[in-house]
Amino acid sequence: MKDRSLLMIPGPIEFEPDVLSAIGAPTTSHVAPDFIDAFGRALETMRKVWLSPNGQPFVVAGSGTLAMELAGANLTEPGDRALVLSTGVFGDRFEDLLTRHGARVTVLKAELGETLDLNQIEDALRSDSYKLLTVTHVDTSTAVRMPVREIGKLASRYGVLSVVDGVCSVAGEEIRQEEWGLDVVLTASQKAIGVPPGLALLVASPRAMEAFTSRKEPVRSYYADWAKWLPIMRAYEDRRPSYFGTPAVNLVWGLDTSLHRIASEGMSDRFARHDLLARAFRAGIEALGLGFVAKADRARANTLTACRYPLDVDGAKLLREIAREGVIVAGGLHPDIKAEYFRVGHMGSICQGDILTTLGAIEMGLRRVGYKVEVGRGVAAALASASDGVV
Ligand SMILES: *Cc1c(COP(=O)(O)O)cnc(C)c1O
Repeated sequence: MKDRSLLMIPGPIEFEPDVLSAIGAPTTSHVAPDFIDAFGRALETMRKVWLSPNGQPFVVAGSGTLAMELAGANLTEPGDRALVLSTGVFGDRFEDLLTRHGARVTVLKAELGETLDLNQIEDALRSDSYKLLTVTHVDTSTAVRMPVREIGKLASRYGVLSVVDGVCSVAGEEIRQEEWGLDVVLTASQKAIGVPPGLALLVASPRAMEAFTSRKEPVRSYYADWAKWLPIMRAYEDRRPSYFGTPAVNLVWGLDTSLHRIASEGMSDRFARHDLLARAFRAGIEALGLGFVAKADRARANTLTACRYPLDVDGAKLLREIAREGVIVAGGLHPDIKAEYFRVGHMGSICQGDILTTLGAIEMGLRRVGYKVEVGRGVAAALASASDGVV
C-alpha cells in the first residue's frame, strides 16, 4: 500500500518529482557558475510566466507574506493613501501591513462570498488621490476571484499603482501582467508555482520601479528593501556573482525546474487546464448537493474551491473521513464561517485523476458521516463536465 496521500489544499500543493529531485541535489554555493545560471534563467522565465516582458522580477527567501511586504514596503511612504480591496482574510492582511508602513488606508470590503462592484471601486478612486490599490486576485479564505483585468484598467486610468496579491492565482488563473497594466503581481513558491514553501516572488512593472526610485525616504524595512535586492537580481540575470543575503539555493534550483515546466506547457493552455478542471470539480460538488462560499459562478476561482458542509454534517469529522480515503483537504479559514465550509486546492500540476479521486473521497466521507449520497454521482458529473470541454 502506498504510504502517501493526495495533498489537495490551497498550498503547499503536490510537487512534481523533477522539482523535488532538483531541490534534493547537494547544495551548491550561491555563486557557483551553474547556480548563477539557474537563478538567472528562473528570473527570465518569470517574465514569461507572468506575461510581463518588461517587468522586474524579484526572488527573495520568505513566504507569500514577505512578497506582500516587498510590495507594501517599497511602494508606500508614510502618509501615502492606499485603497485596499478586500474579499477575505488576505485583503484584510494588506490593510494591516500597509498601515504598519505608514500608509493611510481605505478599505473596500466585499460582502462575504461576493466580489466588489467595479463602479464602487471607480467611485473610490475618483473621490481621493490614492498612490496605490491592492487587490487579492483569489482570496484563499473565500475562493472569491476578483476581476483583476478590469481593476488594472481602472487603476491605470486614475494613475494609481495596482498591486495584485496573486499568491493563490499566479500560474493558475489567467494573468497578463503587462497587457492588463498591473504594476506588481506577487506570489509564493508553494502554490500554483509548484515549489515547496520558502520563496517570495514578484514582478514589478517599469511604472512601479519608477515610483520606487522616486521615493523621498528610504524603505523602513532592511530585508525587504528593493534597493538591496535589485542589484542582486540584475547580477544573476547578467550571470555575475553577487551577495546581499544568502539565497535559498536548493529552492531556487527547484524554481528553475518548475518555471521551465510551466512555460513549456504554455500559459494559455495552463490557464485553460485550470479552468476546465475547476469547472469539473464544481460540477461534482454541486451534484453532491453542496453549496459554495463564492456566490456567483463567475466569482468562483479556478485554483481552489470553498465548499459548504451540508446541514447536520460534523465538518471536522468529515475532513477526517476524507483523509482516511487518502485525500487531504483544508478546513475553513474565514473567521465568520470557519466551521461551515472546507477548501479544496486544485492548482499546479492538477490533473483529471486528482479531481476524480478527491470527489470520490468526499463522497465516501459524506457517506461515513451519515449524509445520504449516491456514491459516484459527483465523479460522474465531473467526468461529464470535463468531457464537454474536450474538443
Ligand atoms: C497563501 C496566501 C498568502 C500568504 O502566503 P504565505 O506563504 O502563507 O505567507 C497571501 N495571500 C494569498 C491570496 C494566499 O493564498
